Amino acid sequence: MSILSVFDKHTSGPRVERIRHESKVRTAQVSQVERLTPGMLRVTFTGDELSDFISLAADDHVKLSVPTRMGMIARRDYTPRRYDAQANSLVIDFAVHDAGPATQWALNARPGDRLQIGGPKGSMVVAPDVRRWLLIGDETALPAIGRRIEEAVSGTEITSIVAVSGSSEHQTFETAATLAAHWAHRPLSAADDPGALLATAESIDLAPETFVWLAAEAHVARAIRSWLIEEKGHPKGWIKAGGYWVTGKANAHERLITSHAP
Ligand SMILES: Cc1cc2nc3c(=O)[nH]c(=O)nc-3n(C[C@H](O)[C@H](O)[C@H](O)COP(=O)(O)OP(=O)(O)OC[C@H]3O[C@@H](n4cnc5c(N)ncnc54)[C@H](O)[C@@H]3O)c2cc1C
Repeated sequence: MSILSVFDKHTSGPRVERIRHESKVRTAQVSQVERLTPGMLRVTFTGDELSDFISLAADDHVKLSVPTRMGMIARRDYTPRRYDAQANSLVIDFAVHDAGPATQWALNARPGDRLQIGGPKGSMVVAPDVRRWLLIGDETALPAIGRRIEEAVSGTEITSIVAVSGSSEHQTFETAATLAAHWAHRPLSAADDPGALLATAESIDLAPETFVWLAAEAHVARAIRSWLIEEKGHPKGWIKAGGYWVTGKANAHERLITSHAP
């Protein structure tokens, strides 16, 4: 592990440490598959190769190598939702949609199946003295949002706004933080429409020095980021935004709109 940079290049932003990890691909075995909600599959992996797994930030990602229908290998980004070093186990939550190869793999996963998991290559760690967070996202961001909420320390205030298809998709989180959880409902077919998230966000009081983390379909993430900057006047250094997928494009994401891009 090496610390590449510590930067707060936007003077108004908090310190963010970029930490690089040794590049590794590990093979792990599925030990459990559960339907967390109708639209979210939770897969738990175990295996000796996970013994030195490291993930320091809630929005880290791993690359899963999954087979395609054509017999090729596709790589897709997923969030390490929870890692247990005692049990050598890693949890990944898959949002179910009109299946690409990763979703298809998860839908068919059974205990004993094996998968190659690459990374995380690095972590972007926001200074622990940041005490106010606004977390905005869709189903694909929910693993990172849930992890951030669960890992938050006492004295942290978190507001979350998550777009899902209905109340059956709500999740609950155990946390030492003070949490105000909001759910914005819209059908999955409207996952690239920022309307529901924006309408909910409009009703939230955005205090200065709130770190806003957001991830969703790229067009949605871009629209919310613009609204935060242009309408709410929130400083760029206090926003980290990512397009976690792009409508109509396989294996696509947008890192360009991340304020803290390395
Ligand atoms: C850093 C990072 C972390 C991520 N973490 C998670 C995570 O923990 N859990 C998670 O579920 N996803 C996560 N994602 C999103 C995930 O990588 C994408 O949804 C990915 O495209 C899924 O791969 P696939 O093989 O199922 O579909 P692909 O083959 O990539 O895409 C097939 C089709 O499905 C569409 N599509 C992709 N995702 C969705 C969706 N969510 N809803 C509707 N249509 C979609 C595409 O536009 C494309 O048309 C993350 C993405 C990034 C960049």
